[in-house]
Amino acid sequence: MRIKAEEIISGIYLIGVPNITLPDDAAVYLIDFTGVLVLIDSGAGRSFNQLVGNIELLGLNPSSLSHLILTHNHIDHIGSAPLFRKKYGTKILIHELDADAMESGDSIRTAANWYDTTFPPTQIDQKLKGAYGILKFGTEELRWLHTPGHTPGSISLYLNRGGKRILFGRDIHGPFHKAFGSYIEAWKKSMQALLALDADILGEGHFGIYQPKDRVRDYIERYLEECE
Ligand SMILES: [Zn+2]
Ligand SMILES: [Zn+2]
Repeated sequence: MRIKAEEIISGIYLIGVPNITLPDDAAVYLIDFTGVLVLIDSGAGRSFNQLVGNIELLGLNPSSLSHLILTHNHIDHIGSAPLFRKKYGTKILIHELDADAMESGDSIRTAANWYDTTFPPTQIDQKLKGAYGILKFGTEELRWLHTPGHTPGSISLYLNRGGKRILFGRDIHGPFHKAFGSYIEAWKKSMQALLALDADILGEGHFGIYQPKDRVRDYIERYLEECE
């Protein structure tokens, strides 16, 4: 039997990743802002029903999914986005520099061709602009930081809850490809910005959860060293 959602800290869950949903899914995180639900990434698209099932198993209502924030435009992160938007009216947010590949259904920039699939042209509800921003949910703040490198419009998100800082750092490990618009020098700066956040918990894009603080730091530094 597959493992179901994992609670990381009160109200923050890992609901999708290969050993929870399907092998081609990047990690999917769910944040419960007292009834208002926010998703970070959406898997590769084939596990939509499993993701919804995992939300229900947590005793939460998928109809309360108000925002889906996409950390970049790759199919393993954006696959179920059109399905959440259609079924639950979930608003899709992505950095403006990664938005056009989704709007046009570009199978190279979304890496859909790597996964032997396609991505339909999909409307974006809110394009994140600039270097950073704050999204307010109730009394809490979910902050995002533009962390280009893997793709031009990659973002990382972080939130303080329960005395801990949780960083949704995503595809820290790359890979870097010309077809993705990757840029290694920008990535190095982005990794320094993530280190400066001094997070207690890292929700990585494919490998799940790292904690405490020194493991988060070691994880990011290891990839930086590999690129020297
Ligand atoms: Zn990925
Ligand atoms: Zn990626």
